[in-house]
Amino acid sequence: MIATEQMKCCICKIEIDNGMDYHNPTPLGKNDSDDKVTQLYGDVCCTYCNITKVLPARIAQNKEEHPAMKPKEVKVETLESQKQELEDSMIASDYGTMICREMDKIREEWKPWVEKEVTDTHKVIYEAEKRVKRMGKKDIYKYDKKESKQL
Ligand SMILES: [Zn+2]
Repeated sequence: MIATEQMKCCICKIEIDNGMDYHNPTPLGKNDSDDKVTQLYGDVCCTYCNITKVLPARIAQNKEEHPAMKPKEVKVETLESQKQELEDSMIASDYGTMICREMDKIREEWKPWVEKEVTDTHKVIYEAEKRVKRMGKKDIYKYDKKESKQL
C-alpha cells in the first residue's frame, strides 16, 4: 500500500513519504487492523523496519505461541488453488529477499555514495521498492543467482 499522507514509522521515526510503502508493525506497534485503509489510524512502519524488525518479531512470537508449530495441513483442493496458495506464500517470503538484494545492488551502483544515517538507508529502500515493483511479485532471480550478480 502506498502512503497517501505524511506518516511516521513508529519504530525508526522516519517520515514515510508519499509513494513509499508502509506496513502494519504488529507486534512492535499498535495496529489491530488487517485492513490497509484502517491501518492509517494505527501505527505504521516503513519497509526497512518491517523486514529487519517486525517480521523477525512475528516469527519469534509465533514460535512462542505455537511450540509445536507444524506445517499447514495439506488441504484436498483443486490443483489450481494449491498452486495459488503456494504462489502466495512464495510471494510473501520473496518480497523481503528481493528488497534486500536490490538494496545491495543499489549500494554498489551508487558508490562512492555511502549511507550515513537512517534517512540515507531509506533512500535505498525506496529505490529498492520501486525496482521490485517493476519486476513483479515473484522472485525471478531466485533460481538464477549468477544472473542476479551480473545485473
Ligand atoms: Zn522504520
